[in-house]
Amino acid sequence: MAKPTLEELRTRVFGQTIAAGDDGYETARKVYNGMIDRRPRVIVRCADVGDVMATVEFAREHGVDLSIRGGSHSVPGFGTNDDGVVIDLAQMNGVRVDPQTKTARAEGGCTWGGFNHATYAFGLATTGGIIASTGIAGLTLGGGIGYLTRKFGLSCDNLLSADVVTADGRFLVASKKENEDLFWALRGGGGNFGVVTSFEYQLHPVKDIVAGLFFYPIDRVRDVLEFYRDFIQKAPEELGMFPAFQIAPPLPFIPAAEHGKPFIIFVCCWTGRPEDAEKAFAPIRKVAPIVAEMVAPMPYPVLNGMFDALLPAGLQHYWKADFATELTDGAIKAHLEYGPKVPVVNSTMHIYPINGAANRVAADATAFAYRDAKFATVIAGMWPDPADNDKNIKWVKDYYRAVHPNSLAGGYVNFMSGDDQERIKDNYKGNYDRLVAVKKKYDPANVFHMNQNIKP
Ligand SMILES: Cc1cc2nc3c(=O)[nH]c(=O)nc-3n(C[C@H](O)[C@H](O)[C@H](O)COP(=O)(O)OP(=O)(O)OC[C@H]3O[C@@H](n4cnc5c(N)ncnc54)[C@H](O)[C@@H]3O)c2cc1C
Repeated sequence: MAKPTLEELRTRVFGQTIAAGDDGYETARKVYNGMIDRRPRVIVRCADVGDVMATVEFAREHGVDLSIRGGSHSVPGFGTNDDGVVIDLAQMNGVRVDPQTKTARAEGGCTWGGFNHATYAFGLATTGGIIASTGIAGLTLGGGIGYLTRKFGLSCDNLLSADVVTADGRFLVASKKENEDLFWALRGGGGNFGVVTSFEYQLHPVKDIVAGLFFYPIDRVRDVLEFYRDFIQKAPEELGMFPAFQIAPPLPFIPAAEHGKPFIIFVCCWTGRPEDAEKAFAPIRKVAPIVAEMVAPMPYPVLNGMFDALLPAGLQHYWKADFATELTDGAIKAHLEYGPKVPVVNSTMHIYPINGAANRVAADATAFAYRDAKFATVIAGMWPDPADNDKNIKWVKDYYRAVHPNSLAGGYVNFMSGDDQERIKDNYKGNYDRLVAVKKKYDPANVFHMNQNIKP
């Protein structure tokens, strides 16, 4: 059979097809990480599942790279390629909330900002990322870590079903009842198995939260991290929090004399009763002198969007990641050495707690294998000027080299860079062979390989 031509694709697709030379191509080919400069043959802004099917078929028949793009936040830039095809789902961003069953169905191009806005109206939320512009799709398929993880598990633990277009162009529903093996693999296995056109999530009663930002002097890193490693094991699960290295931006609640200096901070989200927030924050306040703080009740989506201004699209990104069961003295020593050297206001290092509900899921219940890990560390290099790439990448690599020996073999696939493919088996440890078997069944030709790739 003759391969479909680009013109045939254009007539089959209801959304926009943007090829090199078309108006808007230069914008359409860009992804969030400004370091990624690739020129796909065609970008299809899919309008519906039919468009996704047609585009998968087109890419498969031509044997070219196929990228899937939801929120576009992939640090390795998996959402684009050279001379291949891009499925851009950004236009497919509808969310339907069912307040009776406390569930939501969201299309694959939705961001957490859009999702949280829709569910907030019903006083509901589920675990999502800490930045509003991140896509629900990539984040959920890799696992999904956020403020609500300790209480409600990973994003993928809240996934009830997914609509999927597979490599052979079929439309399947994956859930505990249908295509259970595919459903298992989607919950942590990333974009390896098909294009998820919509996600159905379990929601929970979360509406207005109390947010807390606490800035401590940089010479108190040891006190802050030693406190955190014990405190977070016992703290109420209504408390989502993480320590971060952060250069103080010029914000009104930070004394002007401190702007531009590095700090060790806690970012907190209290989802319990608002009147209990101060009790929850009390031990946090005692760790070390507080140079600046911002504590306020607010809608959950406001906290979710609070840091977006620090992270506009187009920054250069280079990240490294690890899981750990313990925050060892050795790890704290590495943080002490490299954290205070955080080079720019956009860059950071976070140590997310993934205990609580995320640990109560069996290691083989979903593809996300690290149910024994208590911490997910990310060293996130993010800076505006490509001229500073060498310096910033070096900071991330040196930092990672120092922390990694204190960590588990694998890390969180969604926090990794393009040069981390050799860690793929470690990232899934005991679940890897089963993932390969599911990959062989649903994508034997590895059509979906623009990802942390599980080879069939
Ligand atoms: C600023 C920033 C903040 C972040 N914060 C968090 C956080 O708080 N918690 C967290 O867990 N992670 C976080 N991440 C990491 C994030 O989970 C990954 O970058 C994730 O891949 C982003 O998903 P996306 O849809 O935005 O990205 P995209 O680049 O659109 O997609 C990434 C990859 O996911 C797969 N994919 C995307 N959509 C689909 C689909 N519909 N069907 C099948 N496969 C698909 C594809 O392989 C694709 O290449 C953050 C990343 C950034 C850059």
